[in-house]
Amino acid sequence: MKLAILDRDGVINEDSDAFIKSPEEWQAIPGSLDAIARLSRAGWRVVVATNQSGLARGLFSMDTLNAIHARMRRELADAGGFVDAIFICPHGPDDGCRCRKPAPGLFEDIASRYDTSLQGVPAVGDSLRDLQAATALGCTPWLVRTGKGPRTLQAGGLPAGTRVCDSLSAVVDELLAGD
Ligand SMILES: [Mg+2]
Ligand SMILES: [Zn+2]
Repeated sequence: MKLAILDRDGVINEDSDAFIKSPEEWQAIPGSLDAIARLSRAGWRVVVATNQSGLARGLFSMDTLNAIHARMRRELADAGGFVDAIFICPHGPDDGCRCRKPAPGLFEDIASRYDTSLQGVPAVGDSLRDLQAATALGCTPWLVRTGKGPRTLQAGGLPAGTRVCDSLSAVVDELLAGD
């Protein structure tokens, strides 16, 4: 099984320091939906792993998050793409949960859902915490220069073996070239 794990904010859609709190605020990064569609057409399973502490902070409800994801799935379907599943951490930074990245819980859940090792599975993020959670399970970390990516790159300290690309579209170019 070819599996790819994507962060959401700053990878698929434009990030906002004020959080994405409504479907209207969810705006795809140019090329990202087409990139996922290319993976889908090539037989990859694409899953999303996303910290959504706005839930714990009371900025939006689970119903609203579902509406945001319905918009994402609809636009993605229009582009010919499909996301298999969305794994969410709903907690805040002080909740001590096991799923808020950089903790590895979401990736553990993915490994168990698909009953597979994540060794070498590409995981794409724009923040250090995405890459740290990914490498804990043996994924190959990919950093994009969208969203918080430029800041992350400048701060340094990336996990060994991190691949850096301009965007999700550029990551997918490389993944499909290596298929
Ligand atoms: Mg992000
Ligand atoms: Zn959590």
